Amino acid sequence: MKGKTQQKQQVDLLISHALVVTMDKAFRVIEDGGIAIKDDAIAGVGTTQEISMTFDAREVLDAKGKLIIPGLINTHTHSPMTIYRGFADDLPLKEWLYEHVFPIEAHFTNPENVRAGTRLAIAEMLLSGTTTFNDMYYYMDEMARVVDQVGIRAILSEAVINFPAPNAPTPDEGLTVIEKLYHDWQGHPLVRIGVAAHTPYTVPPEVMKKAKALADRYGMLFSVHVAESRWEFDKIMKEYGASPLKHLHNLGILDKNMVSVHSVFLTDEDIQLLAQNGVGVAHNPQCNMKLASGAARIPEMLEAGVEVGIGTDGVASNNDLDLIDEIRTMAFLHKFNSNDPTVISARKAVEIATIGGARVLGMDHLVGSIEVGKKADLAILDMEKPHAHPLYNIYSLIVYSLHGADVEHVLVNGKFLVKNRQLLTLDLGRLYDKVERIAKKVREHARLLGVLNSH
Ligand SMILES: [Zn+2]
Repeated sequence: MKGKTQQKQQVDLLISHALVVTMDKAFRVIEDGGIAIKDDAIAGVGTTQEISMTFDAREVLDAKGKLIIPGLINTHTHSPMTIYRGFADDLPLKEWLYEHVFPIEAHFTNPENVRAGTRLAIAEMLLSGTTTFNDMYYYMDEMARVVDQVGIRAILSEAVINFPAPNAPTPDEGLTVIEKLYHDWQGHPLVRIGVAAHTPYTVPPEVMKKAKALADRYGMLFSVHVAESRWEFDKIMKEYGASPLKHLHNLGILDKNMVSVHSVFLTDEDIQLLAQNGVGVAHNPQCNMKLASGAARIPEMLEAGVEVGIGTDGVASNNDLDLIDEIRTMAFLHKFNSNDPTVISARKAVEIATIGGARVLGMDHLVGSIEVGKKADLAILDMEKPHAHPLYNIYSLIVYSLHGADVEHVLVNGKFLVKNRQLLTLDLGRLYDKVERIAKKVREHARLLGVLNSH
């Protein structure tokens, strides 16, 4: 009997008496669970009794009546676009993009607006349990500074496109910007720089190949919107004689460092290509439904062994960043679309939003599950709510009953960023004023351009 003589390990924080959904390989769910956190990482996971016998901490959080899940992972978004929330709705994708979004972005994408939009997005993501996101936009240096300051985790994928971008007149200059970003942020604990090629129809083959070569040189993640619409599928088929995904395969783009965003229009061969090359898919069900793009063949992709994560896309086409809401939509969409209520179980939906997303982003060694040694990125939800009772199956409760608004505390890298639903590193009042001032200018300019959506 070692008993009281055994020295307890000193950690920074102990969380006790929670229901812990680990999403580890065994899908362990721990009732009356505890988590020990030291520095930025998880030092122990077990029952409250096991944890309290092994660890001692300066700070203890009694999480009775709470649920702890791994911080959620948004595999595709455009954070700065929060300033366009509700700006142009109820339109077809091509008209929405070319006649509303592109003209207004050309005028309003600047460092100041990118910072404000990013702050608003991060506030919304944290308050609904998201702790990691993969972003595709411009001015990633501005975004990186905001991410660093607020403390969330992000892959910031600077976008390459074949027309003058706000911060790079040509694609080649865009690639130079990315290379500098990579060096500037290398080794940062929360920020990783990625490369994004907008789409196969806005990025020509030679630029696509150069962008991928740059990503490969530094081991950066490479994100591309692929086969989002029927229009894109037909256009690429006509120009290159291949589906959008096969076209990228022909260019040598497909590998495990690529994220294929949307991937709605895939052939049987395309699904095999994704699986064979280890390409992850960022599935954005609400955006695909809102723009009536279609239902991505997610059940067939999962069947083929393709890694799938969930994304919100930008809020201009969603219009929120609540991932719990998004996984409910995902489950419903595929059940409805396939006439089969057994596709995408509740546990699979939670897996897609956590460890699945981490695998898509190549970050599953760091985040996505609650395991010793992983970073302490956690969402703690309040279960003392009518819609959280009774509890038969915790995965069912998360996907079909809970909301992002049930999130009470959030930790990223071992630090509280949300406590009792209060953001600790962002001033929301000031942020709302700033965003409303920007929106007023957007509205005025859109009226001038004649692109204010009057539907
Ligand atoms: Zn997108």
